[in-house]
Amino acid sequence: IFITFEGPEGAGKTTIIKKLEKKLEKEGKDVVVTREPGGIVISEKIREIILHKEHTEMDARTEALLYAAARRQHLVEKVIPALHKGKIVLCDRFVDSSLAYQGYARGLGIQEVLEINQFAITGMMPNLTLFFDILPEKGLARITSNQNREINRLDLEKLDFHQKVYEGYKKIIEMFPNRIKVINADQPLEKVFFEAESALDLFWKE
Ligand code: C5P
Ligand code: MG
Repeated sequence: IFITFEGPEGAGKTTIIKKLEKKLEKEGKDVVVTREPGGIVISEKIREIILHKEHTEMDARTEALLYAAARRQHLVEKVIPALHKGKIVLCDRFVDSSLAYQGYARGLGIQEVLEINQFAITGMMPNLTLFFDILPEKGLARITSNQNREINRLDLEKLDFHQKVYEGYKKIIEMFPNRIKVINADQPLEKVFFEAESALDLFWKE
């Protein structure tokens, strides 16, 4: 089972994934936690190129292609083999991030970015996606108060960029209403976790 986690900066995706991993492992499930862009050597290197603070000259299409390239390698090396072994893969960001960030917020077009990603993922869409819903200004406020988080090129974007990302996500949720479940991320961590757990429970039952 392939489950992805999406949402704006500071929505709490990474924290909740770690908690879900512990919970699922306690239940005896075989879980792989990974992230995008990254998760394996080549894709982490691509991540460094994309997110480097000084790479402000990067063209939007270059960025979209690099994300798709990182995604491809990560799928082939890590996600697909784990799925073939019957594992549950929890992935921090996936194709919806590209649709929201590069497709909508950078203005490349959701459909166009979906097309290059279809080339990259060859049908490997997630079985379930949890969208962590929080207004970008609130998410960003969490990030700036978190001293442990490394600042990347995208964190330096202005608020209106992050608002566009949020708008983009809303459109993507409309495009994939069966796959994407919305979690209210603007509440205390325990409540967000409870909602995420419940969404997974519902999914297993279906
Ligand atoms: O979720 P995480 O903080 O690891 O994401 C790394 C950065 O990459 C974020 O700042 C996010 O905005 C950016 N990103 C992006 N386009 C994607 C995926 C991630 O701009 N397709
Ligand atoms: Mg994170």
